Amino acid sequence: MAESALDTAIKQFHEAADRAALDASQREILIAFKTVFETEFPVEMDDGTFQVFRGYRVHHNNARGPVKGGVRFSAEVSLDEVKALAMWMTWKCAVVGIPFGGAKGGVIVDPSKLSQNELQNLTRRYTAEITPIIGPDKDIPAPDMGTNAQTMAWMMDTYSMGHGFTIPGVVTGKPVAVGGSEGRYEATGRGLLFILEEHLREAGGVRGKRIAVQGFGNVGGVAARLMHRAGAIVQYICDKDTGIYRAEGVDCDSAFAFIESGGLLKDWTGEGERIPPADVLTADVDVLVPAAIEHSLTAENAPLVKAPLILEGANGPTTPEADAIFLERGIPVIPDVLANAGGVTVSYFEWVQARQYLHWSEEQVNEELRRIMVTAYRAIQQRVASNPGTTMRQAAQWIGVERVTEATTLRGIYP
Ligand code: GLU
Repeated sequence: MAESALDTAIKQFHEAADRAALDASQREILIAFKTVFETEFPVEMDDGTFQVFRGYRVHHNNARGPVKGGVRFSAEVSLDEVKALAMWMTWKCAVVGIPFGGAKGGVIVDPSKLSQNELQNLTRRYTAEITPIIGPDKDIPAPDMGTNAQTMAWMMDTYSMGHGFTIPGVVTGKPVAVGGSEGRYEATGRGLLFILEEHLREAGGVRGKRIAVQGFGNVGGVAARLMHRAGAIVQYICDKDTGIYRAEGVDCDSAFAFIESGGLLKDWTGEGERIPPADVLTADVDVLVPAAIEHSLTAENAPLVKAPLILEGANGPTTPEADAIFLERGIPVIPDVLANAGGVTVSYFEWVQARQYLHWSEEQVNEELRRIMVTAYRAIQQRVASNPGTTMRQAAQWIGVERVTEATTLRGIYP
């Protein structure tokens, strides 16, 4: 059977634990999932029938603070996937130094098959189910694949109604009109751009670099648009069904505006050759940005990748086998827990603003985001430099595991 995302997360953890010289009981503590919540709940559909859906919310580790992580609506969601994503959130928050542990949630549903009304019913019912284990001091959900700012508004409203007053700090990624942060919507894509700029600083920057982006949602679409605006030539984009190639660069402003207004890439009429989406991963470009789903880069396609640099927009897009191939081929991978941490970082700013009833300007958000991302990037580069042969992923995971271990040791075990 193919390796699952959880297998990958656990394998990466043990490697990091080796580097951080964790003993057996430290390992056992860090690999444990604090809470694994599974629920089956009925939802009223538009035709008056009820359909039962399965949902999860997993808390991995809360040694560094309340747990934090998105909620995924996808037909492919499984408990193992949610666990892997929760564990990656723990290391991600530690790597960028924000005071959260890791969590993730998911509902097995194809959101494109539901009406807005059915999605609202599903979101509210799921929120009611997980209400006992979420809260601004406990667990703060956010958007992920298949969910968005509207989903968060419904979640905040449902949770708040149960408490009798508005609690904006319970979720992040809300619309700005109901307590969301400026810049949160673009934050993951902007964080990717900041990291790429920093990485290419001595190599002439982002301008003129040829980019291929796999995935055209909140991560890939925004990243492609911001990179395009920063002067990069985004030659390849794709969603699940459609790939587009244009040597002079795809007009990402137009393409993403089309997606944002509810369209699909296959119906966008902008210039570019239509190609199979899988070709984007093996495109002859300067930077490959996998920003779709786990395990896109595998032992099969890793030998065919032509880009000399990989920037991970998705969580877990590279299997350990593909990682080993990239290491052997000398292709650096800027790992997910650093590269895509802009989203959760601005989520942290949103949570801080919610709890203080303050509103930051977009400039302030972006400036703080850049500072945090660059600091994390440099810490990882330093770790790589002082440990020759270590990849950026290994260094990042090592730093993440080390920081969570430190918090666990300082706090001790109650009682
Ligand atoms: N779903 C995003 C991630 O995987 C954001 C999580 C958050 O903002 O809490 O990092």
